[in-house]
Amino acid sequence: MRIDIITCLPGMFGGFLDESIMKRAREKNIMEIHVHNLRDYTNNRHRQVDDYAYGGGAGMVLMIEPIVNCLRKLQHERSYDEVIYLSPDGELFVQQTANELSMKKNLILLSGHYKGVDERVRTHFITREISIGDYVLSGGELPAAVVTDALVRLLPGALGDETSALSDSYQDGLVAPPAYTRPEIFEGIKVPDVLLSGHAANIEKWRFEKAVERTEQRRPDLLKGK
Ligand code: SAM
Repeated sequence: MRIDIITCLPGMFGGFLDESIMKRAREKNIMEIHVHNLRDYTNNRHRQVDDYAYGGGAGMVLMIEPIVNCLRKLQHERSYDEVIYLSPDGELFVQQTANELSMKKNLILLSGHYKGVDERVRTHFITREISIGDYVLSGGELPAAVVTDALVRLLPGALGDETSALSDSYQDGLVAPPAYTRPEIFEGIKVPDVLLSGHAANIEKWRFEKAVERTEQRRPDLLKGK
């Protein structure tokens, strides 16, 4: 899988791409990630990528030209399954979206900034818009990182144990059961006996019951219609 991220702040991706699962996935060629600096695609001699909004009002808007220059260059090189704009009014990003997108080959993620992008980018060049939640961030860089992280961990070989992502919250309509590690007793607080029993079927049954119990308590909406 390949993800191309378009941003006016490429430096924001440095640490994120060089750590943990993301780093390993890139080293193992499970995922290719390319970050493109919008300023490299402007004809403006000051490398300006934003301008005042027509009609006035506070806040700058990312200009259409550098964005389309970058999109056209990428689309000339390969075809993309989706050109995604990260936007607070897009479809809500949920695990099902991540599962679906992780099956794609090539994706473009466009990060907005300031007041966002010129509307003509959205109406003519974007195939999908995704929000990571009902709140407004300063830019689309963190949302692009969130989407990328959620996808990469679903790709075969990205996690140490291939089955791990499948037992995470939301994959089976439940939230995950509690997890424990050593020591068995910490300041008198014990790990549940069943997890120390070595009895695989009982452990699985306990985990399922805890997942249901926890879902009832925290996310009863997930159980509606079941
Ligand atoms: N004027 C826009 C509005 O009110 O909807 C907000 C623009 S926001 C300050 C700047 C950029 O951050 C957006 O263009 C988008 O790319 C990104 N962004 C902010 N919040 C986001 C969210 N919840 N999900 C996805 N992207 C978001």
